[in-house]
Amino acid sequence: MKKNVTIVMLIFSLVISSFSFYTSAEASGFADVPSRAAKEVNYLAERKIANGLSPSVFGAEQAVTRAEAAAFIGRALQLNGTKRSTSFKDVSSGNFASGYIQSAVERGVLSGYDGGYFRPEQKVTRGEMAVMISKAFGYPYGGTLTGAASALMSRGIANGMEDGTFGAGQSILRVDFAVFLARTMNPAFRVKSTSSYTQVAPSVMNKVDPRLASQVVILDPGHGGKDPGAVGFGLKEKDVVLDTGLKVNELLKKTPLQVHMTRTGDTFPSLSDRTNFAKSKGGDLFLSIHANAFNGSANGTETFYYSSSATNQYVSDSKLLAEKIQRRMLMAWNLQDRGVKQTSKLYVLKYNDMPAALAELGFIDQESDNQKLKSEYWRTAVAKAIYYGIIDYYNAKGYEVDALYNVAK
Ligand SMILES: [Zn+2]
Repeated sequence: MKKNVTIVMLIFSLVISSFSFYTSAEASGFADVPSRAAKEVNYLAERKIANGLSPSVFGAEQAVTRAEAAAFIGRALQLNGTKRSTSFKDVSSGNFASGYIQSAVERGVLSGYDGGYFRPEQKVTRGEMAVMISKAFGYPYGGTLTGAASALMSRGIANGMEDGTFGAGQSILRVDFAVFLARTMNPAFRVKSTSSYTQVAPSVMNKVDPRLASQVVILDPGHGGKDPGAVGFGLKEKDVVLDTGLKVNELLKKTPLQVHMTRTGDTFPSLSDRTNFAKSKGGDLFLSIHANAFNGSANGTETFYYSSSATNQYVSDSKLLAEKIQRRMLMAWNLQDRGVKQTSKLYVLKYNDMPAALAELGFIDQESDNQKLKSEYWRTAVAKAIYYGIIDYYNAKGYEVDALYNVAK
């Protein structure tokens, strides 16, 4: 999709990760960039993602402000940077980064402080940087600084400090921010990671349909934050569906498909936030994950799609997706088959612009369904099922996907 050139390139780079895009350290002409960071700064400068303070001075040793970080990330994501009024009292339309700040906040990549302040001149800490990059590039991080630090370290984007900590509270220099952002965008720059973070194996990449790399899958774990969803036997729907969604995400990351989650932590995006996010990522497939509740007497698995083309024209593909997901969930959990159902209501299906389905794994307030929902083992099983359902969908759409069935084994 048009907006995802960066991500396509990122995936492409995984295949050719031994190839170095840049050999010249002087191209950008900054006198104050140390040679250790030259290729990364050049990479960003050539793409107009990081500007210098002047043509010859990058400002390498200066701390990054929140406004600068918003501009770096906003340009990297190709957000709308047109200067304009913002929702913050302390960011006027004249601020150089006002457009990027507003776009990033609307996209959920950055957030402000209580009372309507953004604090554009505040220095960014290493921990905040890790959260910003995790949110911007869709790395699951569990909503914590520690989680964000390990999301970056496990990918070879950031290292820990010499004392063995991440240095989350330390402010970060412009040159280091640039290095981390360049490594995020181009895996060829990454350092060795000690973690087991999985990349797309060349054996998989070589066997599957190259068109898959431009396909964008949006996973939407329902509810979150202040909204627990349905509750049964002390188990909250928001926790079950997030964990399941993260497991599906981990499997999809091993494929060439691009995947984004509407939430990766205990946050509460509104329904319109979710569909806007999906559209802004250029989504080609949207799957919302939920658990059901009635009054303790209903049970089983069901999957919905929006049945009118009035607001989401992808009726037949949505139905196909729902059928594939439902079939696999039944195979995995063997709960009662409540069927694939049409709906004229569910917001995230109705006000979307791509094939979309909503899976109800089971009834959280019914004892035997709840046994499955609360079990790590069974959640892993249903996450695999959902993954297989997505692959089945692409198979039915005529993509060569055989190698992807081995990924979840
Ligand atoms: Zn729900």
